[in-house]
Amino acid sequence: MGKNDILFERAQKTIPGGVNSPVRAFRQVGGTPRFVAKAKGPYFWDAEGTRYIDLIMSWGPMIAGHANPEVVEAVKQAAETSFSYGAPTEGEIELAERICQLVPSIEQVRMVSSGTEATMSALRLARGHTGRDLIIKFEGCYHGHADSLLVKAGSGLLTFADSTQNAPSSGGVPQDLVKHTLVLPYNDVQALKEVFVKQGDQVAAVIIEPFAGNMNLIKPSKEFLSTLRQLTSEHGSVLIYDEVMTGFRVALGGAQSLQVITPDLTCLGKVMGGGMPMAAFGGKKEIMSKLAPLGNVYQAGTLSGNPVAVAAGLKTLEIISREGFFDCLTGQTEKLMSGFKLAADEAGVPFAVDSVGGMFGFYFANEVPTSFEAVTKTDIEAFKKFFHLMLDQGVYLAPSAYEAGFTSITHDNGVLEEIITAAKTAFKKL
Ligand code: PMP
Repeated sequence: MGKNDILFERAQKTIPGGVNSPVRAFRQVGGTPRFVAKAKGPYFWDAEGTRYIDLIMSWGPMIAGHANPEVVEAVKQAAETSFSYGAPTEGEIELAERICQLVPSIEQVRMVSSGTEATMSALRLARGHTGRDLIIKFEGCYHGHADSLLVKAGSGLLTFADSTQNAPSSGGVPQDLVKHTLVLPYNDVQALKEVFVKQGDQVAAVIIEPFAGNMNLIKPSKEFLSTLRQLTSEHGSVLIYDEVMTGFRVALGGAQSLQVITPDLTCLGKVMGGGMPMAAFGGKKEIMSKLAPLGNVYQAGTLSGNPVAVAAGLKTLEIISREGFFDCLTGQTEKLMSGFKLAADEAGVPFAVDSVGGMFGFYFANEVPTSFEAVTKTDIEAFKKFFHLMLDQGVYLAPSAYEAGFTSITHDNGVLEEIITAAKTAFKKL
């Protein structure tokens, strides 16, 4: 038994399933999760001293590479002056100003500690602002684990649960609550129009992953997005862009800058904290001013705007704002995916790829899927084999066919070459 197995056995005694977040368990692919000892740049080393090229990067945040020296220094300096005050700091103003500057639809922003808090709070705010209860989400989108949003959700829920049932995707969520959540198919313009004709004036908010990254990577059509923006505006419903994953990851201004859509509220997380527990939600001042202490929508947090997390976030945003950062990241990610595609073609494996900025998807299918349904029809068995063939060669992919992948600025040509060489071997063995 290796050290990973020993740790996994030990972990399962005191931690349910041995992991502190379900997707870390290798439930879909089988095998033992790697217990990470340390990481640097595009690599991490497990408890057995084996080196892996990381293509998850903490599920998105580590865009500047693991243990980026500049971020580490900023965190060290912040930590010297205590970890938390529970009182305002100048750093959080700087971070708020920076976010508002980079994402112009955000006029005001409130910091929280996780993406879940951001989406949960944004929803409450939208309901408080409109005085309506009904929310719309899309099949296969994951917005964190707030009760109202755990319906037909992606990510771990899609990997482990029977999301095809018309019921809450998680146990413990009252049916009474879920009746206020309408779930529509992603990219289905007609379904969206029909709901708004019937119930548009009851809809408090529509929440969407503007590039869905929790059912592999699925891109929206232009028509779907413009219809969404138009209908929500017409009916006074709040359009919430959940950019926890895409924010500062697909482009400096997030998905909304690429799609030229102005949402009413935006949720951020992951990259904005550079790997520290940090997230935010923000948008129109008119809506944000309904939050306590100004308004009657309550939202709070002991560690919100945590100074060490703020330091990591500010430095990370500085790094990604440098000239050429996103061109380079986007180019490298495209190069990686075309390398995968070429290797699959050479081996005669039906395979498709897609990417946006530093986020990618690959599919054991003849073409890139555009819906939740299509994703669930990709060849999961082939994915599982591919995952382990890559892992055995030191490449760490997300352990589920229903997750997007992530690169960092440290995934240089040498690293890509190593991954693609591994992929060639893997496809041949499939
Ligand atoms: N929204 C999206 C789009 C996400 O991808 C995630 C997490 N993967 C969340 C919300 C929840 O964020 P957190 O895990 O920080 O609570």
